Amino acid sequence: MQNKVIGIIGLGMMGIPMANNLLKANFTVKGFDLNPQAKEKIIASPSFEWLDSPAAIAKSCQIIILMLPDSHIIDRLLWGDGQDGIVSDFKENTLVIDMSSSKPMNSKTNADKLRNLGFDFIDAPVSGGVKRAIDGSLAIMVGGDKKCVDFAMPIFEALGKTIVHVGKAGAGHAVKALNNYVSAAGILAVSEALVAAEKFGVDPHLVNQVFNASSGKNNTTEVKVENFMLSGTYNSGFALALMRKDIHTAKEFINGMQTPGDFADLCFEQWEDAEKTLPKGADHTAMFAYIKDQTSES
Ligand code: NAD
Repeated sequence: MQNKVIGIIGLGMMGIPMANNLLKANFTVKGFDLNPQAKEKIIASPSFEWLDSPAAIAKSCQIIILMLPDSHIIDRLLWGDGQDGIVSDFKENTLVIDMSSSKPMNSKTNADKLRNLGFDFIDAPVSGGVKRAIDGSLAIMVGGDKKCVDFAMPIFEALGKTIVHVGKAGAGHAVKALNNYVSAAGILAVSEALVAAEKFGVDPHLVNQVFNASSGKNNTTEVKVENFMLSGTYNSGFALALMRKDIHTAKEFINGMQTPGDFADLCFEQWEDAEKTLPKGADHTAMFAYIKDQTSES
């Protein structure tokens, strides 16, 4: 595996530290991003090469990791939109690993279409944010054929600590979207709770301290409240627009399964409104600011 060349398309907040960890694990890595400034953030290494187009990645790498914003971009990149997608440039036996947070149904379709052309696809989205991308301790939820998943395991081990093969192609993306929906519901609930408590005259730091010692504890109370919310920094590195996209994916998935999803619908509405209200590019932890701003003085 280590002698295979890995191509990464998408070197943003997550793609950069992931590329750096692959280099640290002695993989040969080639990368491309629409933003040329990304190049400067990759560790200087003779094992890294910046290529000038996604097609150049496809022509020279048998393993291609995608770390891109969404399914729309990924589908267009793979299959084209008026012009050829990169699939027409693939080498024999290419494996696509979509580590972005994509739509499960699109990933299932991509896996089928690629299999019909003799290529492989696995979805392996991640959780843990920029911090855990940097220290190589991401949670990775993988969907796809066991043979491909086993083959890609050394890559996942260089990037994450908890790697779970959750099912067939698309299952990883389904679990990821559901996880982020649950996480988003937590942020929303914690934001509403802290704002109400503060208006009543209780110090929100103390409220969060109690949550963390009680049954209200969750990832928001443990990681986000002090670092990014009460501090007012709102800089966790995960955009609110991406969280809104993930909740939409989860809501679409739940509705598609025809299982109860009223709360997901309501949660999505709140995040969609927050995105429209907050400045463009806002961090997802700014949900707290959005809730605070809605509070009346009375
Ligand atoms: P980001 O916006 O920082 O990075 C995305 C990168 O993709 C950008 O650098 C952009 O220039 C590039 N890009 C867009 N279209 C492209 C194209 N056609 N060809 C080449 N490059 C292109 O986003 P991110 O935070 O790194 O997130 C990437 C994915 O990981 C998303 O699907 C996101 O939902 C998911 N994710 C993010 C986090 C987080 O904490 N940031 C955590 C888990 C999962």
